Amino acid sequence: MPPSRPLPHVVVIGAGIVGAATAFYLARAGARVTVLEADSPSAGATGASDGAVSVASKRPGTMMRLAREARDLYAQLVSEGVLTDLFHTRPTYLFARSAAEVALIDSQGRDLASQGELILPLSRHDLLQRIPGLGASVLAGLKVPLDGHAIGYQVVNRLLSCASVVPRHHTPVHRLVVLNGRVTGVESSAGLIPADVVVVAAGFESSALLGLDEVLIPRKGQLIITDRATAGFAAFPGPLMSAGYLAAKRATSPGQNSVNLVIDPLRTGQFLIGSSREAGLTDRQTDIRTVSAILREALDVYPALARQRVIRTFAGIRATTRDGLPIVGRHPTLDGLIIATGMQGDGICLGPLIGAAVARLACDREPAQDLSALSPRRFQGATACGALS
Ligand SMILES: Cc1cc2nc3c(=O)[nH]c(=O)nc-3n(C[C@H](O)[C@H](O)[C@H](O)COP(=O)(O)OP(=O)(O)OC[C@H]3O[C@@H](n4cnc5c(N)ncnc54)[C@H](O)[C@@H]3O)c2cc1C
Repeated sequence: MPPSRPLPHVVVIGAGIVGAATAFYLARAGARVTVLEADSPSAGATGASDGAVSVASKRPGTMMRLAREARDLYAQLVSEGVLTDLFHTRPTYLFARSAAEVALIDSQGRDLASQGELILPLSRHDLLQRIPGLGASVLAGLKVPLDGHAIGYQVVNRLLSCASVVPRHHTPVHRLVVLNGRVTGVESSAGLIPADVVVVAAGFESSALLGLDEVLIPRKGQLIITDRATAGFAAFPGPLMSAGYLAAKRATSPGQNSVNLVIDPLRTGQFLIGSSREAGLTDRQTDIRTVSAILREALDVYPALARQRVIRTFAGIRATTRDGLPIVGRHPTLDGLIIATGMQGDGICLGPLIGAAVARLACDREPAQDLSALSPRRFQGATACGALS
């Protein structure tokens, strides 16, 4: 037997769901891991999102395949006792309000079925039986029974505690240290920290560390939380997801700013209602115009919401890319550097799977999944993309 290679010391930048999952799998493999977080865990998109672990809405191809694998991994982490009580299976209900939208969800249904996903087309009558009180504009739907839900910050806390990894809070990384074509560490507010491998999992802020301004596009999303419609159980079995949301996800290039409705019945009895897609905005403010637009849509689809009170609004920033795919893999020209960003509106779903893959890359192994479509190489040579050239 050849002697086994010593495991590296890995510095992970960012304690969102991707950084936390990477740290979890690295620690599990026996590697030494240091997580540096500019603020506190889940301070970025992970703490300001919905928790759909959803295949229903994914673009056919790489994203649909990875989402199915990611959802399986959630179930596996539950069976291993890691994510006990934090992930549960529930259906997604795609719905249509025009003939064009009916055609779109039909087409998504065919794509899902061709991947082996269980689907159930629903007439308006069928939908009403499952979700009484639907608005008159809803014409038809599609049930995807085996989707799931997990709350991002809860997953982060559990993964870090199971791995006994304590991130260094309030420790922003200012720059990567490069010597002879190799990243040898990071310069942080706590000084220089050497590393064998550095993983950049800083969400949208990865852009500043890697020079990805032309590749990573921030896309703000505003969300609304209501008070409880029911006491301690979801008002209906799973989220109502609009065909507009589906269209935004299926697009292969960033579209116009829009409101794409999802009404998510939480297990607390509250509703989480979202969201907007606002390109170029990095502030976390909510505004009356956008919140009103989301609520108008929501009342059209589910008029019973008029009984609820809004108790909170908040916003998060999705890191999106020009081609709508995450950026995950070894840096094309710098040794010792791995990129894991651009999770779009899918990082809660994909986070554990991407973390598992990145941990393997950091230990000089190949990921269990085919991630070639996510390779940073596809942006090599993009102007103003200094670090990828
Ligand atoms: C409104 C909205 C709804 C969403 N709904 C869903 C959903 O239903 N399902 C789904 O799958 N996904 C959803 N998402 C997407 C999901 O939230 C993200 O894709 C995911 O959280 C990204 O995780 P991350 O770890 O890559 O980044 P982040 O969670 O942004 O984490 C990055 C971390 O890095 C830290 N950081 C940044 N710069 C530095 C630095 N220089 N040094 C050290 N640390 C740094 C930040 O403080 C942050 O904690 C939604 C997003 C939004 C905004």
